[in-house]
Amino acid sequence: MPARFNGRVRSPLSYLWAAPWSAVGLIASPFFRWRRFERGVLVCEGAGWPGRLGWRYRAITFGHVVLSVDALDEATLRHELVHVAQYEKWGPLFVPLYLLASARAALGGGHHYRDNHFEHAAGLPALRGAALPGDQSRRGKKLG
Ligand SMILES: [Zn+2]
Repeated sequence: MPARFNGRVRSPLSYLWAAPWSAVGLIASPFFRWRRFERGVLVCEGAGWPGRLGWRYRAITFGHVVLSVDALDEATLRHELVHVAQYEKWGPLFVPLYLLASARAALGGGHHYRDNHFEHAAGLPALRGAALPGDQSRRGKKLG
């Protein structure tokens, strides 16, 4: 049965197009405490090792796999699902395009992450404003 997200069906071709990056997420997935399928995506949560390795992000998405150091709230999951849709659009090109957008932001005097076009498209400014204040455990953690 096709997986649905926001009333639309994820096509098998979208999984195939994003598969090279989903494979990266699948390789990392066993190293997270909890795994579940939601809205056609594998969500992996709970890991302390990324922080010990210097990782400062809260969550990151590779294709149809979302990796998060802690349990995702709905707002953050929605943000990551926009990245999934970006992978479905750009496939193997998404990560190079994301990195180019980071470089463009930085070269333009902005921040490589906060001013990245793909993060803005995923609603990062609104999400940071809504999710982070008052939540000490997540303060300072970036979203992927
Ligand atoms: Zn993001």
